[in-house]
Amino acid sequence: MDIDAAFITGANRGIGLELVRFLAANEFAHQKATRVLAACRCPEERAEELQNLAHQYPNIEIIKLDVEDWSSIETAAKKADELCGKGGLNLLVNNAGVNPMDSLKSGFHFQPSDMELAVRINTLGPIQMTKALLPVLRRSAKMTSNGKTIVVNISSTAGSIKHVASNYKLGNLIPYRVSKAGLNMASACMAEELRADGIICFSLHPGWVRTDMGGQKAPLSVQESVASCLKVIKNLTIQDTGSFLSYDGEVLPW
Ligand code: NDP
Repeated sequence: MDIDAAFITGANRGIGLELVRFLAANEFAHQKATRVLAACRCPEERAEELQNLAHQYPNIEIIKLDVEDWSSIETAAKKADELCGKGGLNLLVNNAGVNPMDSLKSGFHFQPSDMELAVRINTLGPIQMTKALLPVLRRSAKMTSNGKTIVVNISSTAGSIKHVASNYKLGNLIPYRVSKAGLNMASACMAEELRADGIICFSLHPGWVRTDMGGQKAPLSVQESVASCLKVIKNLTIQDTGSFLSYDGEVLPW
């Protein structure tokens, strides 16, 4: 699958920034430059590395976006609509995410405000983004054959109910776990909504990765994670829609 135009949320650091680097540098799709719409909350203040990348690669467009804010999403979607033209958008990666730090404390330190924040960003954000970008995604789906237009929701094994007992000791993370389990359900529902358009939607666990969120003890570098994730994305077919996959292609339990 060629990626002609991609939209990445949370593109100023971590996994999102590396996705932008790979796609813009064409390390993944060798044939022609991918137009990369790199969205982040504060392009002027907390996005120096992304700004440098955009100077290096003219196929990067930086877009201001807060996935908690519907008017910001609408403005970003309008910009994507203009930039993508009649070819539309064939890859949306809903990557922006938070893990409220209070949830890392041991004991039942559950705070409703942490849950609200995690759900707004990790669960509602990807649904709202997909809804706002749907006309641009549909344009791509109409121009190509089935399965060439993809919505990727970056999830986590922390959101797998089957895995809770085995990985709970790594951190209770209740708000994060609930928000990612909700995102998994959203992926399955959106896959059904988008099936008739030939648009794939699925949840992808990027592995445990050395980022601000993953910490320095994580086994995977961002480069390793992103290279594997893009391989999974490249090999998807419409039969994979509605699934929950790991960065190494393994099918994960819900
Ligand atoms: P980081 O903490 O390094 O980066 C998070 C990104 O999300 C930042 O760009 C941040 O922007 C952005 N973001 C947060 N809130 C918003 C918002 N309201 N609007 C727009 N952008 C926002 O995390 P990672 O790169 O590690 O994680 C990326 C994704 O991968 C997340 O969804 C995470 O849950 C998932 N994941 C990560 C794992 C890991 O081990 N690292 C494991 C499993 C899943 P800002 O700089 O403005 O805060």
